[in-house]
Amino acid sequence: MGALAENLARVRERIAAAARRARRDPERVTLVAVTKTQSVEVIREAVALGLRDIGENRVEEAEPKIAEMSRLNEAITWHMIGHIQSRKAREVVAHFDVIHSVDSARLAERLDRFAGERGQSLPILIECNVSGEQGKDGLPADRFVEDAAQAGALVAEMEQIVGLPHLQVRGLMTMAPIASVPEQSRPVFQQLRRLRDVLGGRFPTAGWADLSMGMTDDFEVAVEEGATLVRVGRAVFGERL
Ligand SMILES: *Cc1c(COP(=O)(O)O)cnc(C)c1O
Repeated sequence: MGALAENLARVRERIAAAARRARRDPERVTLVAVTKTQSVEVIREAVALGLRDIGENRVEEAEPKIAEMSRLNEAITWHMIGHIQSRKAREVVAHFDVIHSVDSARLAERLDRFAGERGQSLPILIECNVSGEQGKDGLPADRFVEDAAQAGALVAEMEQIVGLPHLQVRGLMTMAPIASVPEQSRPVFQQLRRLRDVLGGRFPTAGWADLSMGMTDDFEVAVEEGATLVRVGRAVFGERL
């Protein structure tokens, strides 16, 4: 087996073991292989090994890779996981199948408009900053239980987003702060799940099934806490150069 095949097998085993520890069905966890900085050749190899969900964080970098894979007729679900500038919204809608990083109603409105022009209904996740880390993307959501002002602002944004006709809300996404041990991410993932449960009660007609959380350093903890999408780069492809 090549290195990629071995890494992939190991990551899949670790996901399955984490799911079993939490008495969850491993089939309910999708591995999104994050291919930023990786070449199209590497993506082809990954697809040949059965990966179908690919994540990229910059539309400029992703575009030629998506074009090439589509030329090869590969059926891939492309996940946009990085911060989206307003002026890139149109391109993002044109190239990606699922957007994890919707972090404002304003961005959502633009995505909705472009999806509508294409006659699409675009699956999205709403990115939330549940750790309170400064300078982090995502709607502020670290104190939604005890801070009525934050909770009010959050609900107001969510209300606008869930009402958009060409977006399908699927759930929430977060990035935990860089941690020296995976356990440090657990409260962050628990907070995202609690927020999802609250929003599910508040906006029952939207879909809240998905939680996109966990990366190379903490994906097992994320699976234990309910992740349905883990975004893993280095554990599959090796360290980025
Ligand atoms: C790069 C990236 C990942 C994957 O990170 P690894 O540590 O390589 O697993 C996940 N999510 C986002 C948003 C990223 O930018």
